[in-house]
Order: sequence, then C-alpha cells, then structure tokens
Amino acid sequence: MQDNYRHKGKRQQLVKTVKKKGITDKVVLDAIGRIPRHLFMDSSFEDHAYQDKAFPIAADQTISQPYTVAFQTEKLEIEKGDKVLEIGTGSGYQTAVLCELGAKVYSIERQRELYRKTKMFLNKIGYRPKHLSFGDGYKGMPDYAPFDKIIVTAGAPFVPKDLLGQLKVGGRMVIPVGDDVQTMTLFIRKSPTEFDKTEFGQFRFVPLLGDKN
Ligand code: SAM
Repeated sequence: MQDNYRHKGKRQQLVKTVKKKGITDKVVLDAIGRIPRHLFMDSSFEDHAYQDKAFPIAADQTISQPYTVAFQTEKLEIEKGDKVLEIGTGSGYQTAVLCELGAKVYSIERQRELYRKTKMFLNKIGYRPKHLSFGDGYKGMPDYAPFDKIIVTAGAPFVPKDLLGQLKVGGRMVIPVGDDVQTMTLFIRKSPTEFDKTEFGQFRFVPLLGDKN
C-alpha cells in the first residue's frame, strides 16, 4: 500500500476534526498530519483509516482513536529527547507519533504476534524507537528507568505502582484508569514521594491485561 495524495487529503481532514474536538498543540497536530495511519491497519480498513475512530488490529486489539492519541500525547508535553515509556505498542501508531515528536521511545507489548509484527513494520517505514519489548507492561521497564514521560494505552483497572516508581521527578504519566470506561488521569511527580493527580474526561480502551488474562 502506498501513501498518495488521496491519503494526504484525508489526513488533513482528520487533523481538522481532531482540532475541532479541542487539540491545540501544533506539534501533535502536525504529527497526525504526517503519519500514514492507513499503513498501520489492515488494508481492508484503508478507506476508513482517516476517520476519527478506533479499529481492530491483530490479536483482538485496537489501534486507538486519533483524538485519544492526540489527547494523551498533548498531556505529556513531550520535549525533543524525552525518554518515554509506552505501555501497549499495539499497531505502533502512538509509537510513531512519539518518534515524530523527537522522543526516545521504549515500548512494551503483551501480545507476541503484535510485538513481532509491529517491530518489523516500524523499522520498514523508518521509525526507530529506542527499544521495543515483549512483556508485561504492569512492570514497566526497570532496566531502562527512570523515564521523563510514561503513556499507558490500555485501560488500567488500577494505577501500577511500578510505573509511578519509574517516573523521574518532574515527569508526567498519562493513564486511563477504570474497568469498562476509564477516566484519563495525569500524574506529575513532584518529589520522590509526592504526585499531583489530575482527572480528565472518560475514554474507552481495551483492557490492560494482567497475569491471568
Ligand atoms: N498504542 C497502541 C496503538 O497506537 O495502536 C494502542 C493499542 S491498544 C488500544 C492497547 C494495547 O495494549 C494492545 O496492543 C494490547 O495488546 C496492549 N496491552 C494490553 N495489556 C498489556 C500489558 N499488560 N502490557 C503491555 N501491553 C499490553
């Protein structure tokens, strides 16, 4: 599949839609405008790739809605060179957005099929995250911690302590917390023992899978 003028046109429409819904960060909007989302999905969804919707990917998972990706990314306030941990590599679309923003991305995926497929795909289209791993996101990546920013892209039934512990002082973590519906929550680490917590609206994610599922 190629990236042609038709895709580019639809992408600009998508940027307008996401902007209308409240995203203001130009760097985030520009990234959405550059990334060929249709390539991150099954070719049967090509015609729908620039709708502001989540779609199925392999292993019963989803590529997140562009507005959600933009919302979470905006809340992270990424600066070039930030070390960012992503939980839930999935299709790699969010990983690509973070790479476009100049972040050094470390990402974990729990479905082996997705981990393998996305690792090859990101490399093929020229995105170079620092480290992709297959494993349990609840544990984070202690070997690479601490991180400037952490983003969780699946619905977490609770806030994993290990992830908070891997955030630098001054760092930000955005995580959807809840079971069927999640509240988008931002943590800012104020000191080794203190966190500021802000809650935003409700979102719907596939669940962050634990040991038993
Ligand atoms: N960032 C992804 C994207 O842009 O396509 C979002 C994918 S989907 C909404 C959430 C992903 O989290 C799925 O790929 C799922 O397999 C993964 N996931 C679920 N539980 C996980 C866990 N405990 N550790 C790591 N990844 C997990």
